[in-house]
Amino acid sequence: MSHDPQCIFCKIVAGHIPSKKVHEDDELLVFHDIHPWAPVHLLVIPKVHVASLADIEPEHQQWLGKMLSLAPKLMKQQGVTNGFRTVINTGADGGQEVYHLHMHVYGGPRPWAKG
Ligand code: 5GP
Ligand code: ZN
Repeated sequence: MSHDPQCIFCKIVAGHIPSKKVHEDDELLVFHDIHPWAPVHLLVIPKVHVASLADIEPEHQQWLGKMLSLAPKLMKQQGVTNGFRTVINTGADGGQEVYHLHMHVYGGPRPWAKG
């Protein structure tokens, strides 16, 4: 299924739940995390509903690579100059809470709330 009507991030993609967007293209959406752990805390998500990194298929590889390559560009745009952290939580033991694949990108001066 490309969209899950119950999924909070699909609702953000559809514009049914507001978000502070910083990037949008055909395949990806990037917005600020609602509970930031660092001065800049972005979530990079595919527009298509993929529950987690454990559910990746070969046809997803193109935007999966784009997720990573976007991170340094967006952090630069956000004024982050001293490094950043990228995290993908996968599944229960991975600490995943929202089951729509997302990559956290954290940056900004420390201390950070977590991590
Ligand atoms: P996970 O633990 O699944 O890796 O992270 C899910 C993240 O989504 C959390 O950091 C949480 O703050 C964020 N989040 C959950 N609901 C919303 C929402 O409605 N809007 C935004 N912007 N972030 C959300
Ligand atoms: Zn979804």
